Parts: sequence; C-alpha cells; structure tokens
Amino acid sequence: MCVFCKIVTGEIPSYKIYEDDKFLAFLDISQTSLGHTLVIPKIHVPNIKELDSDLVGPLFNLTVNLAKKITDALDTNHFNIINNTGELAGQSVFHAHVHIIPRYPKDNLTIKFTPNKLTPEEFKNLQEKIIKSLDK
Ligand code: AMP
Ligand code: ZN
Repeated sequence: MCVFCKIVTGEIPSYKIYEDDKFLAFLDISQTSLGHTLVIPKIHVPNIKELDSDLVGPLFNLTVNLAKKITDALDTNHFNIINNTGELAGQSVFHAHVHIIPRYPKDNLTIKFTPNKLTPEEFKNLQEKIIKSLDK
C-alpha cells in the first residue's frame, strides 16, 4: 500500500484538515510554506491522468475552496496550486495529489517560469500538434 493510502486508512498519522467520502486533505510534512496542504482522492491512482474524470472537477473545486479557507486562516490572499505528474515534473509520491502552497512576503520560494523564445513558425507548429491530439 502506498504512503498516501496508508494515510487514508490511518495506518500512518497525518494532520488532516478535511475529509469526505472521496477526498482527504492534510498538511504536507515538508511545509514548504506554512499551511502547505495536499488534497488527494481516497482511491489510489498513480497520478491525476488516471483519475476518473467524474472526480477531476470535484477535486479542483475542493482544492480551490480549501485554498481560500487556508489562506484566510493564515492571513494571506496568495497561493499556488500545483500538481506534479511524472518524475520529470517532480512527482515523488505516486498517488495523485494536488499541492496548495500559501504564499507570504519574502517566503523564499521560487516557482520560476523561464521563457523560451519561439518563432511564429514554431508557435504555429506547436499549436497544430496540440490541436491535432485534441481530436483523438
Ligand atoms: P510530489 O513531489 O508532488 O509527489 O509531492 C509529494 C509530497 O508528499 C511532498 O511534498 C512530501 O513532503 C509529501 N509527503 C510525503 N510523505 C508524507 C507524509 N507521510 N505526510 C505528509 N506529507 C508527505
Ligand atoms: Zn495510494
């Protein structure tokens, strides 16, 4: 059983902040920023791609609601919502989860988007490639 499944069953302790029949939210052990929370489906799927599409909307809805409540409680209005899918994206626990990361002034956390300079041609090729796969 994976570590998050063990948290669901209670085999491993966690600081739960929300639970219903389908989802669980608990404080991330790393506390990257104060209030760093993970929202998970109780059912084991290795990543968000494998999650039943009926659960994707409710998971995101719950995540946004919790992000609002958590940041209210911690006196900030700022947060990142992050999902890591696959090792290259930084996924280390292979049970689908979404991170809520409250942000504070001078929190020393960097989530950096480094721009790539593309030509209009490259943009067009990229656009076509992606649009084609939408039909599949
Ligand atoms: P990711 O890198 O997106 O797979 O995130 C996995 C997260 O799970 C990391 O931020 C870890 O700190 C967190 N984590 C791992 N084990 C536990 C645990 N037992 N309780 C709470 N958080 C955990
Ligand atoms: Zn699991």
